[in-house]
Amino acid sequence: MELDVLTLFPEWFDWFARQRHVANALAAGSSLQLLSLREHSPLSGAQVDDMPFGGGAGMVLRLDVVEAALRARYRIDPVELPSRRRVIALAPGGRVLDDALVDELAAEPTLTLLCGRYEGFDERIVEHFCSDVISIGRYVLSGGELAAMVVCDAVLRKLPGALGDERSAVEESFSAALEGNPEYPHYTRPAEHRGWRVPEILLSGHHARIEQWRRERSRERGERASITERPNPGADGTGGARDRPPRQ
Ligand code: SAM
Repeated sequence: MELDVLTLFPEWFDWFARQRHVANALAAGSSLQLLSLREHSPLSGAQVDDMPFGGGAGMVLRLDVVEAALRARYRIDPVELPSRRRVIALAPGGRVLDDALVDELAAEPTLTLLCGRYEGFDERIVEHFCSDVISIGRYVLSGGELAAMVVCDAVLRKLPGALGDERSAVEESFSAALEGNPEYPHYTRPAEHRGWRVPEILLSGHHARIEQWRRERSRERGERASITERPNPGADGTGGARDRPPRQ
């Protein structure tokens, strides 16, 4: 997978690229290329943003700056990009990232991620250069860099060679193996601590029954999640912490 990230802060990704599973994915043939929007600015003083037409607080990332960076990287008019590759604008109001979307993105040979800053992008960037707008959740970050790392992390760990043990990605939360449910609980040594004992079944060595127990716990968690995952839990006085079933 070829991952390109356009950002005002490419150095933020130095740490990210060193993380084990990311480094593994890169060693296995994927690439993570950082492109500095500022370095590609055609404007004097490496300007990247400007005041919003119509007034209002904050600055807006300029269309000509993003166009120049995309053109420098791909050597074509960026309006042709969306028909050739997924070009993703990161924005709080976009399609919310979930496991199905991560699977979709992980199947692509190439991805381009655009990190916004300030008030966000000039809307013409999204309209003319992007194929997707993706949000990592219904809250507002100061910039798209962390969101891009979330997308890259979730996508790269799906690729062969990223994880130490390939089985980790097969049976985990939201996977087909768990029928889309959250993963079951895990325990390790000590088997008892302060009177908190690990469920007996897990110490039994009875693999078929352990498997069944895990499936049941996973399904239970799925059912509970569907109750608590209301569009905006708490806003209408329900679905907040007090309405949640007790933790296991
Ligand atoms: N004015 C924008 C709004 O109200 O939707 C928020 C802009 S935010 C301060 C700056 C940038 O951070 C955005 O352009 C986007 O790239 C990124 N960003 C912030 N929150 C995000 C989220 N939840 N998901 C993805 N990107 C996000």
